[in-house]
Amino acid sequence: MYYNNNTIVFYNGKWLKANELMVSPYSQTMHYGSGVFEGIRSYSTPDGTRIFKSEEHYERLLFSAKKMHMKVNYSVEEFTRLTYLLLEKNNLENAYIRPLVFAGANMSLTPTDEVNVLLCAWEWGKYLGNGSLDVMISSYQRPNPKSCYVEAKVTGHYVNSILATTEAKQKGFDEALLLDMNGNVAEGPGANFFFEKEGTLFTSPLGNILPGITRATMFELCEELGIRIVEKYFTAEDVKGADSAFFTGTAAEVAEINSLDRVPFKLKWEDSLGSLLQRKYLRRVAFNEFGNFSLV
Ligand code: PMP
Repeated sequence: MYYNNNTIVFYNGKWLKANELMVSPYSQTMHYGSGVFEGIRSYSTPDGTRIFKSEEHYERLLFSAKKMHMKVNYSVEEFTRLTYLLLEKNNLENAYIRPLVFAGANMSLTPTDEVNVLLCAWEWGKYLGNGSLDVMISSYQRPNPKSCYVEAKVTGHYVNSILATTEAKQKGFDEALLLDMNGNVAEGPGANFFFEKEGTLFTSPLGNILPGITRATMFELCEELGIRIVEKYFTAEDVKGADSAFFTGTAAEVAEINSLDRVPFKLKWEDSLGSLLQRKYLRRVAFNEFGNFSLV
C-alpha cells in the first residue's frame, strides 16, 4: 500500500528504491521512540502539484528535532525542494508526504550523533474515512506536557495515540477524543478538535496539544469568514449535545463528527460551521487559493 518495487525515497542524501533501504536494527528510535516526523499533503492544483504549507511543516520538523537533541543538516528550503523532487520521481500529485528523522545505533538513553533523514510519499485517501465519525472519550489521557514536549511531533508520543484509537475501535467507535491531565478535552489521537455552540467555535488552547497546522488554517479561514473562534479549556460535558464538532489535521483535513459517547450533535452536518470550513479548506488546497503554497 505504501510502496512498491518502483517507489523512490530520499535517504541521507541519496535517492534509493524503498525496498532497498537498510536501517540499523539498533536504531535508538526503533527501540525507544526518539524520532521526529511530519505528515504533509500535496494537491493537484490548476497551477500544478503544490505542497500545502511546506514551510510550516518543515519548521515544525526542525523544532521537533531540536527538542529531541537531533541535529538535522537540511534547511526548510532544501526540504521543500527535495519534497518536490520526491513527488516528481514517484509521479505523485495528490500525495501524503512523510519526512522521518531517526537516530542511529544507540542503546543508551543519550542523544546520538548519527541522525538519519528519510522522505517518502504515497497516495492516501481521507484519513478518517468519508462518513461521519462516532467518537468516544478515551480512557487514555494525552501525555502530560511535563513528561515530554507535546508540541513536538515525536514518534514515541504515538504509542498513546495507537492505544486510544485501538480502544475506540474495539468498543465500536470510529475514533477517540482524549482529555488532558486536568480532565479537559485536549485533542484526537492524530487531529485537533473543534466544536460549535450557538454560532461560535471552540477549541482547546495550546499547551497540552500538538499545535496543528490545519488548526492554524481554521483560524485563518474563520477570520476571513467572520466566524468567532474561542480558545479555552472545556470538558467532555460541555461538548456533548453541542451543535456540531469536527477534527482537523493534515491527513484528516476537516472530518465531521456525528456523536460523542453516543450523544449526537444537534445540527445536520451540512448546516454546521464545520461543513462550511470543510468546503472552504478543500477549495483552498485544491485550487491553490492560499498564498502560502511554497515553491522553490
Ligand atoms: N494532533 C495530533 C496528535 C496529531 O498527530 C496531528 C497530526 N499531525 C494533529 C493534531 C494535527 O496537526 P496538523 O494539522 O499539523 O496535521
